[in-house]
Amino acid sequence: MVDSQKRRMLWLALAAIPARLFASSGSSHLAAGVSADLPPPPFVPVSEDDPLADAMGFRQDAARVDARYFPTRKLAAARNEFCGDCLLYRPLNESWGRCVVMIPDGVVNVIGWCGRWTSAGKS
Ligand code: SF4
Repeated sequence: MVDSQKRRMLWLALAAIPARLFASSGSSHLAAGVSADLPPPPFVPVSEDDPLADAMGFRQDAARVDARYFPTRKLAAARNEFCGDCLLYRPLNESWGRCVVMIPDGVVNVIGWCGRWTSAGKS
């Protein structure tokens, strides 16, 4: 009971983060999708502060990857690397999906990225 209440509180708190992040990103068509399409509980957005996510340089918006630690993200060859094109991505809707290496109920945004990105061979 307490765990489900904590989970709901965490989900509500995390659900508000992407909307704020993308509201100023200039990605207006994605901002609408991000805020409207978040899968319902038990899914929660993967926290960028999660130790595993942080170690992989994960960001819900690839534009926010810290190039000091992940310089390859800034290379021209990485321009089209996003979670949505990653072999490890399992879409739940147009904006969000699961990542097989992240927490079980965690979802990543289609425009996210991490250092484990692996081509799904779409492009
Ligand atoms: S492994 Fe792929 S789907 Fe998972 S967070 Fe990294 S880029 Fe996104």
